[in-house]
Amino acid sequence: MSETLANLLQENRRFEPPAALAEAANVKADAYTEADADRLEFWATQARRLDWTKPWDRILDWDNPPFAKWFVGGELNVAYNCLDRHVAAGNGDKVAIHWEGEPGDTRTLTYADLHKLTCQAANALTDLGVRAGDRVAIYLPMIPEAAVAMLACARIGATHSVVFGGFSVDALAGRIQDASAKVVITADGGYRRGKPSALKPTVDEAVAQSPTIEHVLVVRRTGEDVAWSDKDHWWHETVETAGEQHEAQPFDAEHPLFILYTSGTTAKPKGILHTTGGYLTQASYTQHAVFDLKPETDVYWCTADIGWVTGHSYIVYGPLSNGATQVMYEGTPDTPHKGRFWDIVDKYGVTILYTAPTLIRTMMKWGDEFPAAANLSSLRVLGSVGEPINPEAWMWYRKNIGHDNTPVVDTWWQTETGAIMISPLPGVTATKPGSAMRPLPGISADVVDDEGNSVPNGGGGFLVLREPWPSMLRTIWGDDQRFVDTYWSRFQGMYFAGDGAKKDDDGDLWLLGRVDDVMLVSGHNISTTEVESALVSHPSVAEAAVVGATDPTTGQAIVAFTIPRGSVDSEGDAGEALIKELRDHVAKTLGPIAKPRQIMLVPELPKTRSGKIMRRLLRDVAERRSLGDVTTLQDSTVMDLISDGMKSAKSDDE
Ligand code: ATP
Ligand code: MG
Repeated sequence: MSETLANLLQENRRFEPPAALAEAANVKADAYTEADADRLEFWATQARRLDWTKPWDRILDWDNPPFAKWFVGGELNVAYNCLDRHVAAGNGDKVAIHWEGEPGDTRTLTYADLHKLTCQAANALTDLGVRAGDRVAIYLPMIPEAAVAMLACARIGATHSVVFGGFSVDALAGRIQDASAKVVITADGGYRRGKPSALKPTVDEAVAQSPTIEHVLVVRRTGEDVAWSDKDHWWHETVETAGEQHEAQPFDAEHPLFILYTSGTTAKPKGILHTTGGYLTQASYTQHAVFDLKPETDVYWCTADIGWVTGHSYIVYGPLSNGATQVMYEGTPDTPHKGRFWDIVDKYGVTILYTAPTLIRTMMKWGDEFPAAANLSSLRVLGSVGEPINPEAWMWYRKNIGHDNTPVVDTWWQTETGAIMISPLPGVTATKPGSAMRPLPGISADVVDDEGNSVPNGGGGFLVLREPWPSMLRTIWGDDQRFVDTYWSRFQGMYFAGDGAKKDDDGDLWLLGRVDDVMLVSGHNISTTEVESALVSHPSVAEAAVVGATDPTTGQAIVAFTIPRGSVDSEGDAGEALIKELRDHVAKTLGPIAKPRQIMLVPELPKTRSGKIMRRLLRDVAERRSLGDVTTLQDSTVMDLISDGMKSAKSDDE
């Protein structure tokens, strides 16, 4: 097959880095040359940005692939690197976290405050019998204690498993049991959409099913009544009364740091294991390089939840290891109004913002007036992660949030990769809307065809990683075979990411969505991303998801689920006219091969709790099958709305 994935979308817009930013950038073009000359030495240099209590003997042990060991023999403490060394350097009074609760209450934590709390939590966990190597589940809202809990585990060498605070009893219990966790750290609840949202009842039910849990540590956030058992301990009575002195012990570079389950967009979530030295090296370096973070002057804000890998690497370990000042926000973006995010940027003078395409498209749908009402002039770097960003959403982000001169870094990575892998460097790379551009220095990504041959520029195929990287997953927790089968068996000697990608004529990379989602239409492999981006480029469309459904003539046909923008009339005849216009618009943009057979106008799309579109469920609807695993679905009623709409659309057609 000459063409593994069709290359249909043409995009010619291009933006050079602002001169002043380029001039003062943390990382310049020579980083690529340096890494190309000696990749391992390059990573060793980045590892030296951290404090090691014992130097490594060997940078990489890749003698037994795919099981890697980085910085072999080296020892360090992650919490020491995130806290103690900043305090020791005289930065104890520097703000680590400006926390903003959803109801409007605030807390300011300096590095000294965070250090003290983490030492107390480390002592409290030790008193509860937690030892190095034990697993601790963390099920918390977006409050500073979430970061403290993670750092306290890291400090004593316990492996944390953070479970997103919106997950159900089954999801939490399943993750606790998979890791045989000994302790759960939770809260009575948190604030969401203007009211308290309880967590403790979910924990109580999950703990009842999980005999390995010995203790439950409960932060009081909402003050609502909770049921209490003899396993339960209040955080304020246990942690906040514990000793403030705690000596961080060094751990081996390969000591397990955390387990985190993938989002479940394509399949049942996998428990990804990350370790200590390599993970922190790459999380810390990429924070410095990709966001051009200047700890003295920047105010950084990552809007992800701490329950996702983005929250691990770019709220906790990346920013704190660099001594950054950051904003942390508890709640939803439309509470009490749709401009809440922009008010926060304005209030704290946020300079670097890292968010997800789903949020950007939602903001587009709500309208330009919300960001326009706030002063966003402090922003100087914008980031995106989680899904392919459609070119029109990228342009909207740059124009409406980035006052038309702020670089947008589209960062590709996965729970499995631990840290950013493909991204522009804001002071070096000329960006293109919708492209993640190049692998970072020290990373070797490629696009290959079915047989594993590198595709030429202009070609599409499978995204792979050819060389091990420091923050790579070490295995799937408890299942080495699934680790080998899932990631290392498709192509000999390469890590298979599961994503489709293309190289444009300059060799820059464009992510095209999951290969499981690729549609085969009349012998052409068409990516979901390109058709969705074509739909989103129409001014009436806010969001779109497309899937392939069995078709008697073309093998598969494209079925699109489309959310119209807020102001668009999509009822009755107007809706019919819009559907026709959109089908023609796609055919005109990408060619007749990509014209959807059917377009459904829908109010919402099925998304994971992390905001990613779950196309596999839409495919089940389009194929009229029963739905697959829905445990990570955000809102199950969305599926009923969509299936009902699908039935009526079908009967109209036939
Ligand atoms: P599961 O593996 O359980 O299906 P998931 O892949 O959604 O879940 P994550 O690790 O949270 O779990 O997401 C990683 C995936 O997100 C990538 O494989 C890719 O498909 C997508 N992704 C992340 N960042 C980008 C980006 N900048 N551009 C395109 N896709 C991205
Ligand atoms: Mg995945």
